[in-house]
Amino acid sequence: MAVYLDCAATAPVDPRVQREVMTYLGAEFGNAGSRHHGFGSRARSAVEKARVQVAAVVGATRGEIVFTSGATESNNLALLGLAEHGARTGRTHLVSTRIEHKSVLEPLQALSGRGFEVTLVSPERGGWVDPRSILEAVRQDTLLVSVMQVNNETGVIQPVPEIARLLQNHPAYLHVDAAQGFGKEIAPLRDRRIDLISISGHKVYAPKGIGVLVTRRRSGQRPPLTPLMHGGGQELGLRPGTLPVPLIAGLGKASELALAEYRERNAACRRFKEILLRKLQPLNPVFNGDLDRTVPQIINLTLPGIGSEEAIEAVSQVAAISNGSACTSTSESCSHVLSAQRLDEDRMEGALRLSWCHLSRQPDWNGFIRAIEAISEPEHPDRLTALELGQAGPA
Ligand code: PMP
Repeated sequence: MAVYLDCAATAPVDPRVQREVMTYLGAEFGNAGSRHHGFGSRARSAVEKARVQVAAVVGATRGEIVFTSGATESNNLALLGLAEHGARTGRTHLVSTRIEHKSVLEPLQALSGRGFEVTLVSPERGGWVDPRSILEAVRQDTLLVSVMQVNNETGVIQPVPEIARLLQNHPAYLHVDAAQGFGKEIAPLRDRRIDLISISGHKVYAPKGIGVLVTRRRSGQRPPLTPLMHGGGQELGLRPGTLPVPLIAGLGKASELALAEYRERNAACRRFKEILLRKLQPLNPVFNGDLDRTVPQIINLTLPGIGSEEAIEAVSQVAAISNGSACTSTSESCSHVLSAQRLDEDRMEGALRLSWCHLSRQPDWNGFIRAIEAISEPEHPDRLTALELGQAGPA
């Protein structure tokens, strides 16, 4: 069976997380809002424990954790939720980047139709945003700066700590979409200048359908968010609805494990990456994103002369890979991230994303290379030569 190398789209659920989820799907099925019996109080305890476990990863307090359905909802709540305050106080300017996930870009677009002005900063060719260009974009009336921690298509780490430092004396709220970095790149999210952090459970070995918006207090004040939905008052009134206790307990466990194990996990991912880079050498890959700035578990590359759909199909028996974000793979258009990096058309059309995790095994790289060579044009004889020279043995 093909080895799954699409962990940036979604990752396998850790068996220890699965066990936690099953407990609250099974015997402990209570409603965390039920006040009159043990079923309710045990469910509530599970939720409060998870709050502490998530908060510990980012150096927040449990009162700053708001459970949502995932990073998409967290991003929407952060951005749209600040709009009322912005409109009331005359701060109607928003700063973000061209390489954000659609769940940031689309709420921003919605706000620009509601009287807000949005400045989107372009990345450098290497896929990272220069902190100075963020500072240059910020104005007196800037309500919010939103920058992702790790880009989901290229794996490039964004300079969030530097941006936080440059914004030290500016009143703008700082939001970080940490869907790809939470539980993996720990230190940057602990910066107290970051007001809002979006987290996704299924990228960190918890189930899909659970996430968090961290609403950090600054000088004792929580960011002035307005809820997007109204109902039972749960989650500080910011996110009403009966809490999905099994999913929350799962995310809590996943957070605890991430904090305990991230160093070993990152080391395993780095080893995977070293082998991958060595094994793919014969195909002369071109990297879409500054390799020195990427996380250990995501790589975006183009194999010269080969389109991405063609390559994905060719290697499908060996490895399950993608051509960027799963969220956009149904759309025909080229990646907005790579085009913001000003890559040429061929490079974008051939872009492949390989993403793995500490649980991934190495695929049969020899088979991978053979599959690509079978669809290669004859004018790339150097690839064949490399394989024949035996540089692409199995891991
Ligand atoms: N932001 C980024 C950077 C992501 O990679 C993703 C998932 N593709 C999301 C937001 C959305 O996360 P979720 O699936 O939890 O809604």
